[in-house]
Amino acid sequence: MIEASYEGDVVVVGAGLAGLVATTELADAGRKVILLDQEPEASLGGQAFWSLGGLFLVDSLEQRRVGIKDSFELAWQDWEGSAEFDRPEDDWPRRWARAYVEFASGEKRAWLHAQGVRWLPNPGWAERGGYGAIGHGNSVPRFHLTWGTGPGVLAPFLRRLADARARGLVQVLCRHRVDDLTVAGGAVDGASGAILEPSAARRGQGSSRVEMGVFVARAPSVLVTSGGIGANFDLVRANWPERLGPAPKRLISGVPEHVDGRMLEITRRAGARLIGSDRMWHYVEGIQNWAPIWRHHGIRILPAPSSLWLDARGRRLPVPLFPGFDTLGTLAHIGKTGYDHTWFILTKKIIEREFALSGSEQNPDLTGKSVRAVLKERLGPGIPSPIAAFMREGADFVVERDLAALIAGMNRITDDPLLDPDRVTREVIARDREMANPYSKDSQVMAIRASRRYLPDRISRIAAPHRLLDPEAGPLIAVRLNILTRKTLGGIHTDLSGRVLGDDGEPVPGLWAAGEAAGFGGGGMHGYRSLEGTFLGGCLFSGRVAGRALAG
Ligand SMILES: Cc1cc2nc3c(=O)[nH]c(=O)nc-3n(C[C@H](O)[C@H](O)[C@H](O)COP(=O)(O)OP(=O)(O)OC[C@H]3O[C@@H](n4cnc5c(N)ncnc54)[C@H](O)[C@@H]3O)c2cc1C
Repeated sequence: MIEASYEGDVVVVGAGLAGLVATTELADAGRKVILLDQEPEASLGGQAFWSLGGLFLVDSLEQRRVGIKDSFELAWQDWEGSAEFDRPEDDWPRRWARAYVEFASGEKRAWLHAQGVRWLPNPGWAERGGYGAIGHGNSVPRFHLTWGTGPGVLAPFLRRLADARARGLVQVLCRHRVDDLTVAGGAVDGASGAILEPSAARRGQGSSRVEMGVFVARAPSVLVTSGGIGANFDLVRANWPERLGPAPKRLISGVPEHVDGRMLEITRRAGARLIGSDRMWHYVEGIQNWAPIWRHHGIRILPAPSSLWLDARGRRLPVPLFPGFDTLGTLAHIGKTGYDHTWFILTKKIIEREFALSGSEQNPDLTGKSVRAVLKERLGPGIPSPIAAFMREGADFVVERDLAALIAGMNRITDDPLLDPDRVTREVIARDREMANPYSKDSQVMAIRASRRYLPDRISRIAAPHRLLDPEAGPLIAVRLNILTRKTLGGIHTDLSGRVLGDDGEPVPGLWAAGEAAGFGGGGMHGYRSLEGTFLGGCLFSGRVAGRALAG
């Protein structure tokens, strides 16, 4: 049995994006950091590696170049409308949110740009809302895809980490799983836990939990950056709020297994207050990965607005629950249907333009920074290859030439044949009749036409309006959509410098938190909902704030 002990100025628990940002800021200030992670070195960077690298930026150069008029005021209006802060403990989260929107409207782009990060020229329009001006959603496109996706966001921090290790300022201890925070005289002064056996698991794969030793790491300050709970279905279900209906029986996972949520309870035991545990951000357009890397691995479709969205019984989802408009509104609606899945019906012409898959490995052209591949895959004719692979291999796809065969295929891939062919046919034909004029009473058809006035969407993201039953647009495609777990919006309550607060609202001496574990700042800077691209940004911001504050 190995027994190891370490000492430094700061112990950081979790080498994801938030932990790396804080660590590199601390090292820049000459502080000695012990960086602990339960996974092997192959997984350094945590979830951010797998991410699409979409970043929320406000009034950016990229927005201005394509004519988008954005401002702090508009973004803050949108944030408040989405967050709907309504609890006394939302005071710090709200302050974090405002500071974050200021950061996203100001220094964020320049800070990352100076570190070599670049973005695609066409900001995407996520979470379009569909309610009034003070309701949920982005008034304008703000989702900036990083060139190189998630690995492109991580790259500068991994570079800075390597440099700090070479200078002897950071000790990275992988396979060190924290099981406890140590407390002396009311102050947190270290972390202890198990040394796990070496693992050859590849990035993202589950790794062994066999213990071969124990360790203690001591420092006057401990920063918790251990991520959320998304891979722990028991915790997700236990925290599932009534407002979203009954917890789904069937879930798929949008995050690797290390997103296990264990550290939240460990941090609570050391004196932290956890808030907003019922606030989570799960997706409603999940598909089972045909080539899974982690357990229950699902992929999120980032949809554009043209697909027809039906519930498990074939009823169209109500206004404004169109693809890409209101994630949690849709989730709450699904909860009322009594089933965990819904359906997209679309055409080849729609899938060619409108399906994007979230995740670095699903976008090899962007992740590999190949201009040629991007032009071919995204602007050229045909279906992008990762999507074509899902159509061939994916368990959730049905592709047929005519509607009757499509509906029969849809009924074949669910446990029970829930769809009444007459009902589905009626929805499809009724929707198609609304396409005959350049105007319509159908809100989704209006939204499609309005969205195409944003030039990048018209060129690359939204198919020209057409009838689903137009043979020229076919074949027809149906996709069964599952609920996919992803982000934890609540978390460890912190003040505006990242100090952890206890039940009495006072800082717990020696204890700090950042990233998803801290609800991306304050214990939940998103409130109830996100505007997207705000998670990586929340880790960058809260990691930087905590790192700099700890460095003094
Ligand atoms: C597929 C995918 C796509 C995404 N796309 C986007 C996007 O486009 N835009 C966006 O803004 N966000 C996106 N996200 C979300 C974003 O990537 C995450 O919210 C963010 O990276 C979380 O970073 P973190 O550092 O807080 O936590 P993590 O990345 O989860 O890192 C936490 C680390 O702590 C370690 N750890 C946990 N417990 C312990 C313990 N007890 N002892 C030791 N170590 C421990 C874990 O092993 C892990 O390495 C995406 C996420 C995924 C998975």
